[in-house]
Amino acid sequence: MTLALSGTADRCRGFEQHTRSVIRLKALGDARSSAGADFTVVRTSDDLKRVIQDSHEAIFAIDDGTGCFLSSEGLPRRAITVPAQFSYLAPGDVIGIHTPSRKFRTLYRHNSRHNSFLVTERCNNYCLMCSQPPKDIDDRWILDEIRQSLPLLDKETRTLTFTGGEPLSDSVEFIGLLADCRDQLPKTAVQVLTNGRAFAKSEIVDAWRKVNHPSLIAAIPVYAAVDHVHDYVVQAKGAFDETILGILKLKDRGQRVEVRVVLHAQTAPIILDTCRWIARNLSFVDHVALMGLENTGFAIANEAQLWIDPIDYRAALADAVDVLVAAEVNVSVYNLQRCVLAQSVWPYAVQSISDWKNAFISECEPCTEKSRCAGFFSSGRPRRSKAISPIL
Ligand code: SF4
Repeated sequence: MTLALSGTADRCRGFEQHTRSVIRLKALGDARSSAGADFTVVRTSDDLKRVIQDSHEAIFAIDDGTGCFLSSEGLPRRAITVPAQFSYLAPGDVIGIHTPSRKFRTLYRHNSRHNSFLVTERCNNYCLMCSQPPKDIDDRWILDEIRQSLPLLDKETRTLTFTGGEPLSDSVEFIGLLADCRDQLPKTAVQVLTNGRAFAKSEIVDAWRKVNHPSLIAAIPVYAAVDHVHDYVVQAKGAFDETILGILKLKDRGQRVEVRVVLHAQTAPIILDTCRWIARNLSFVDHVALMGLENTGFAIANEAQLWIDPIDYRAALADAVDVLVAAEVNVSVYNLQRCVLAQSVWPYAVQSISDWKNAFISECEPCTEKSRCAGFFSSGRPRRSKAISPIL
């Protein structure tokens, strides 16, 4: 099951002053003031009695399936009540809520290693397999919401990802947000999933460098060694030239770059050529990720053009990894199951699928490699290779 990261609250009261709010959950008995953003998690009617006794002013009540919070009787002044499917929410988690519609989104899960913030739905690419199809809307409120969230995150958070759309659509504001991350979360590694085209402009790449973040990386897709294939995949003429220029300018200024290649029917058959080209021309990047396709968003609509069984590019992928390794390029393979990979690729295969949409199937039960395998995406319309079979 994919974890529900958004929904509609049954009740949301005490927010009359604000259209949008960001709150953090805290445990029952936590003495932190609830006057600000902290809301006490309540799961049962006994919890509710206790918060009333302890005069907690703000609660986040998660239905235990009995409908115990359906009546507003006895609820504190500020209260949000949500259905039982959000029982995974826990102290330390951060929620963004639009109070007039009662719609909310889980922005950060304290116990997850896979926290990512969507920065915008706008993008100047229109990729065939985009998992978050672009929308031309004014969603700059999201940047404000992220800015409000950062002080509420655990200072020990190891990694954060910013994604889109294209996060650099509002480059000045977004780069300002990276400076906030540097100041407020100095121990947190930050990864930005960007199409890289904005970095063709020197003023943007200079502003990025000036943030001087201790652990920042731009993860940029390159789909082919030739412009017309890349431009076709991202549905934007001239994108390849801007993206490669952006990568060169970032590296020229000492910034960290990961190159990503998503593997599908347009890119997988030429993966060896692509990696030979990367090894010759971009061997100075910090990491290359060769990634199995998530069959969601536009990838479903364009399935006929995109689906290829990973077993059909197994040999080419193994050769491509060999080429990068020989060139001393740091390479990983994401999102692909070990039983469809050549054994030579296993040391580079990473459990990369975010925990909220990662699953295994019944065939995996006896597999001796399960604890090291990436498993499957549970999101969208999952497709799997005909070669899936347990390693015994
Ligand atoms: S059988 Fe399942 S756990 Fe084993 S390698 Fe294949 S996908 Fe992974």
